Formats: sequence, structure tokens, C-alpha cells
Amino acid sequence: MIRKIAVLTSGGDAPGMNAALRVCIRAGLFYGKEMYVVYDGYKGLIEGNIQQVNKDFTADIINRGGTIIRSARLPSFKEPETIKKAIEILNDFEIDALIGIGGDGTYRGLNDLAKAGFTVVGVPATIDNDVGSTDQTIGFSTALNTICDCIDRLKDTSSSHQRCSLIEVMGRDCGDLAMYAALAEGAEGVICAEYPLKKEQLFKKLRKMKAQNKDHAIIIVSENLIDINQLAKEVEEATGFTARTEVLGRLQRGGSPTANDRILATRLASRAVEIVINEEGSRIVGMKDNAVVDFPIEEAVSMKHEHVHGLRDLIEMLQ
Ligand code: ADP
Repeated sequence: MIRKIAVLTSGGDAPGMNAALRVCIRAGLFYGKEMYVVYDGYKGLIEGNIQQVNKDFTADIINRGGTIIRSARLPSFKEPETIKKAIEILNDFEIDALIGIGGDGTYRGLNDLAKAGFTVVGVPATIDNDVGSTDQTIGFSTALNTICDCIDRLKDTSSSHQRCSLIEVMGRDCGDLAMYAALAEGAEGVICAEYPLKKEQLFKKLRKMKAQNKDHAIIIVSENLIDINQLAKEVEEATGFTARTEVLGRLQRGGSPTANDRILATRLASRAVEIVINEEGSRIVGMKDNAVVDFPIEEAVSMKHEHVHGLRDLIEMLQ
């Protein structure tokens, strides 16, 4: 019989984590359970930084970015000794199940806890949208809107000066932020893991645009792939465009979550609590074809993120 449920947020913070936390707490209380939060992710877990909370804790957090219970990275969580310590702490607090809100790394930590016999449920939250067991992660929609807002502003200035803007966005190894932003902005090009740089093709396109006296060009680039400052120099030499670079960086992580992220968080977190209450085992929740789904955790951690149907065709058309 489940009596006490704890919730933590871990890994990169994402807008909508608070909305997910709010629903976990409220749903758990609704089912008559004692609810706990773990501060500072897995780091706080092994330090016993755990607090019982009531409904007041969830007031006015649905619209707040970041995570009010904070996040942290703890590389040593991979070690058996650390997992053992985490389980000791959870047992000391008599916690029956842990809900982890985070990305792939967070899931691997949860999986280690599950393998050691502790019940865990994962809720996908990361701006990168790089989680295999869901079409969309909490935070992706907000980050994408932020990127679009930044690019709209850049377009004003780059068209006033007839520039080519090279804009670096986040995403780790996943090109979703870059590809969706390229579609949403009608960008002239996108460079990401799925679409590696084809210099000559890009330069040819830009030269053609310059010859047609086009106002500006927007090229969106995923992080960690190429040196965009070097590419900007080459664009200037090869195309006649003046080029400027912008690295949007952590700006992409902040801000109030979009309505879409709040609803997504609400749907996923409520299912996570239901899984715990029904004692369905250690699972990961996600959204597939707009339906809430869940998978056994050991299956979920090895799933590869798939692009939604038709996305690549649209990008091909754009390139
Ligand atoms: P995200 O959850 O956003 O992918 P990270 O990759 O930083 O973020 O992972 C968050 C935390 O999860 C790490 O700091 C670490 O404590 C834990 N973690 C990451 N990878 C593993 C792993 N392979 N095994 C166990 N724990 C892990």
C-alpha cells in the first residue's frame, strides 16, 4: 500500500517543471497520500534534502519557469554505492515511490533505482525534446517559442542591414529545436545532426539570394556541431552577405511555460501519479500521437527519439 510519494526535478531545468510538480503534489494529495519534495535532484536525495509539502506549496507555480525545488547534476549517481545511499535515505523517510521529472540522464538514474528494487516513475521534461519515449517533452514548446521570438527580433535588424544571421540553438544531439525553429521562422537553412552542413549548397543558395537582392537570410544551427563564427567568415567570403552570429544559449531555458507546456505537464504528471497509486510498477510516461502512454522503465531508457511523421519532408522542402 502506497502512503508516501516523493517528487524531484533533475538535469537541465525546463519551463513546465513546476507545472508538473504542482500536479504531482495535488494529485497525490487528492488520492490521500503524503507528498514530499526532494530539493536539488539526486544530489539533494543522497543528502536527505527532503520535505513534506501540502497544497499551499503548489500555489502560483504553474506559470513559473525553472524549478522551485531546483535541479543539480550528480555524475556519481551512476555508482552502486550512491544508489545504495539514495535508497537508504528514501527508506529512512519511508517513501514508497519516487517521481522524477527530467530527461534521459534522469531516467537512467531512475532506472538504477528501479533495478535496486525501488518504485520510480519518470516524467519527460527537457527543452531538447531528445527523449525516446515521448513525441514531446515538457519545456520544448516554450523554448521553441523563445527561439522564435529572438529570431523575429533578429530579422528586424538583419533585414535593415541586409545581413545573413547564423543563430545557434540548443538541443544537445537532437535537432528538433533547430528544425522546428527553421520551419516556424521560414529559415533559409538548418544545420543539425540530422542535416549536416553542406557548404557549397548553402553558399550557392545565399549567392542566389544576394543576386536577387533579398533582405536577409536566417540560418539555424544546432549547438556543438560547428564553429558558427568560422562559418560566418566563410559566408562573407563566399556569398557577398555580411554575416553575424548569435548564440541564444541559456536564454532558451528560461521564461514562463507556454499553455501547451502547462497542459502537457498536467496530463503527463497526473498519469505518473496514477501509475504510482495503482502500483503499476516502475514506468516512464510520455505522449505519442497526442495520447498519454507509458512504458516499463527498462524499455523506455533504450528507446530512440523519432521525429514526428512528415517533419523531415518539410525540412527537405525548405533546404
Ligand atoms: P537530463 O535528465 O536533462 O538528461 P543529465 O544528463 O544531466 O540531464 O542527467 C541528470 C542527472 O541524472 C545526472 O546529473 C546524474 O545524476 C543522473 N544520471 C545521468 N546519467 C546517468 C546514468 N547513466 N546512470 C545513472 N544516473 C545518471
